[in-house]
Amino acid sequence: MKFGTKAIHAGVEPDPSTGAIMTPIYQTSTYVQEGIGEHKGYAYSRTSNPTRSALENALAALENGTYGACFASGLSAVDAVLKMLTPGDEVITTADLYGGTYRIFTTIFEKYSIRFHFATLDELEDIERLITPKTRLVWLETPTNPMMNIVDIEAVAKITQKHGIYLAVDNTFATPYLQNPLDLGADIVMHSVTKYLGGHSDVVMGALVTSDHTVAKEIYRIQNSSGAIAAPMDCFLVLRGIKTLHLRMQRHCENGIRVAQWLKDHPKVDKVYWPGFHTHPNHAVAQRQMRGFGGMISFSLVGNSLTETHALLKKFKIFALAESLGGVESLLCHPATMTHGSIPKEEREKAGIVDSLIRLSVGVEDSEDLIQDLQHALA
Ligand SMILES: *Cc1c(COP(=O)(O)O)cnc(C)c1O
Repeated sequence: MKFGTKAIHAGVEPDPSTGAIMTPIYQTSTYVQEGIGEHKGYAYSRTSNPTRSALENALAALENGTYGACFASGLSAVDAVLKMLTPGDEVITTADLYGGTYRIFTTIFEKYSIRFHFATLDELEDIERLITPKTRLVWLETPTNPMMNIVDIEAVAKITQKHGIYLAVDNTFATPYLQNPLDLGADIVMHSVTKYLGGHSDVVMGALVTSDHTVAKEIYRIQNSSGAIAAPMDCFLVLRGIKTLHLRMQRHCENGIRVAQWLKDHPKVDKVYWPGFHTHPNHAVAQRQMRGFGGMISFSLVGNSLTETHALLKKFKIFALAESLGGVESLLCHPATMTHGSIPKEEREKAGIVDSLIRLSVGVEDSEDLIQDLQHALA
């Protein structure tokens, strides 16, 4: 089955009791049993719920995986993966990481004696040198936030497989429409469903997908034991959201191309970060592992003034200033003061997050209007 057909049909069956084409919101905590252990596959909604099961199966299908698990947020999905480890275990990850993921690693799991090695992109290319006998997990994000760096998933997977280490990839930015980490050798895919999968800025949710039976058993055990589950109503909203994932992503990509090209030629724009440019340092890898370049773009301004950048951010009429990304509406954010404000200025700038850097989540509006909005703000 091709992607668009899967987005609409995978995991979802007409409701067995009524034939309802949309999976009902099974807003129930428990299920009546006919006798001890005699039930229809559902006993208590923390463990499993039919609306959630439908979404978990749909997401597994979209990622070409076997098992899906939905969580209360993207970070609770990250939390579940880390809970597979035991004290003393080591994790290799990148410095270029979603802020919340960095925070849960350093302020929660370091306390339980999990050790994190934050590698630079150069070090990652030589990842074998970072592996110790205690390394259990490599955690990657690609494209990264907000610098749109690309990591070669297949190259890293070759090394992790050789050493029997799990590879988990946060696929939030690319979505399964553009990139399938499991096909490239990853063991676990993680999503902040809040973003493109939900797609309408109305749900906070996370998901994990794997094809490894042992990993899946652990994930379901942790999901049930820690209890950070996704609610039935939210699962329903996401089941609706993913039915148009392919249509939305197609438009996000088209608008992304137009906006990135337009920004590149603007005299007030200094640098544009977008993996679709031939000049992007890892364009070749992006072209190999992705089917398009998405709608996430960052750019900096000539002069790099914080005051001018703050003034500019107020001039937009369509792009809204907000955290988050991946919804139908275009958003912009200022990483230096919003998402990456807690990182010391010097370290931030080393990573390219200068005071004038602006991150766009290009929505699915008409590109002419989006460009006009940028034109007006930059004038
Ligand atoms: C938003 C985000 C997360 C965290 O997900 P929540 O749903 O906000 O908990 C993790 N990774 C990336 C890349 C994100 O954009």
